[in-house]
Amino acid sequence: MNDIVKKTILNLNRNNVAGYYVNSVEELHEVIKSLIQTGETVGCGDSATLEQTGILNMMRCSNYRFLDKYKPGLTHDEKREIYLQNFRADSFLTGVNAVTIDGKLFNIDGNGSRIAPVIYGPNQVIVVAGTNKIVNSVEEAIMRTRQIAAPLDAKRLDKDTPCTKLNKCIDCHHKNRICNDFVLITGQFQKNRIKVIFIEGNYGF
Ligand code: SF4
Repeated sequence: MNDIVKKTILNLNRNNVAGYYVNSVEELHEVIKSLIQTGETVGCGDSATLEQTGILNMMRCSNYRFLDKYKPGLTHDEKREIYLQNFRADSFLTGVNAVTIDGKLFNIDGNGSRIAPVIYGPNQVIVVAGTNKIVNSVEEAIMRTRQIAAPLDAKRLDKDTPCTKLNKCIDCHHKNRICNDFVLITGQFQKNRIKVIFIEGNYGF
């Protein structure tokens, strides 16, 4: 673990957020298995990192009650029901757009379903982040998310927003704008309810 990751974890701890570091996907799976007990209800937020690291499949194939928002054929109402059940989940898994070295989590969300359960509800929240998500400041977090993550995410979601053609954010007023909630988490009351697991390398956007 390099000094930047060490410092970030130390500062997350100061903000009551637990921090972990792993070197590989295999190690990541072991840590997650140690944090989520068999039979638990597990929700998830939209995350390319969870997909790339095989965590979503692990949830589907293990003995958890996984609230799978990606299940094919879900109606709008069924998806909304999953979003609401996420608040009562034992564990909620998600990615993050950026983590500042001084220990803050920053996310941009479209309808709030990814970030709302991070703030309140599930007994524990497990955030998985590539070390590429560590930034120097809140300003850099916002810049990185708007100019890199959001346009890539809009493409992934097959949106027809301007950023998918221009490869940059123009702060649009498009009806399908995915950047509605800018959320900075600076700490939490309940120590270690949110846990951040850094995985070495580039993951997600
Ligand atoms: S505000 Fe609009 S243009 Fe900018 S990243 Fe979000 S969806 Fe794309």
